[in-house]
Amino acid sequence: MNLDSTTSSRQNLPRDPLRLVRWIVIGHQSPRDAIFGMDMIGFASNHCNLRHTEEPVTVSDNICWVVDLEATLEDAPALAQKGLQGLVQQGIAESIPDSGGALSGADLYRPGPKAAAWSEYIADDLQLCGVELTAERTVFHTGSNSEQIRCPHCGSDHELDTLPWSEAVERWHSEADCTLMCRTCAHSAPIVDWTFIEFDWAFGNLGFGFNNWMIDARLAAELGNVLGHRTKVVYEHI
Ligand SMILES: [Zn+2]
Repeated sequence: MNLDSTTSSRQNLPRDPLRLVRWIVIGHQSPRDAIFGMDMIGFASNHCNLRHTEEPVTVSDNICWVVDLEATLEDAPALAQKGLQGLVQQGIAESIPDSGGALSGADLYRPGPKAAAWSEYIADDLQLCGVELTAERTVFHTGSNSEQIRCPHCGSDHELDTLPWSEAVERWHSEADCTLMCRTCAHSAPIVDWTFIEFDWAFGNLGFGFNNWMIDARLAAELGNVLGHRTKVVYEHI
């Protein structure tokens, strides 16, 4: 990856008036490669002044989301605090946030003293590293280059442009009937039950966004235990 020749994906983000989707750009072999591999080099180079160049350097920020798949919108704020409390008690996150310090502008809770033990990679020497909380109806979208979607009934993969999937996403956001019909088996299923390929999405009212922080699977499981709900990990590359 030639950092100097790439452009900032953030500036090219689609402006979705409904704010349905966290558009991102992924063009790599795996979430780990995309998020905490080479892109972190670009991020660190830019933010830490480790590298000096007259050419523009990509700013690659990444968020590893743990999404609560079962929290209601009503319960989400209290559950967000419950999850945060669990992270603080384990020494994973600090209890006092940097106000507005997250990538989204939300408060950012910096890594705690035991964060590294729960992480595969953590850029805790960077200012833009910590966990933010989202407690609103959100489509956690991992990549604008998703090309296919898989039917939960028969397992058939469909090209995205052959199904009206975006309408189903909009209906989910407005809490309407969000079912999508498979053209192979003729069964319908809610959009939340379909699998986006290659990087899956999540739909929910509560998310813990680990900014520039590749968490260990144990951390996601721990959060799920604290919340008492099923969770899904979604990788977002900004
Ligand atoms: Zn099907």
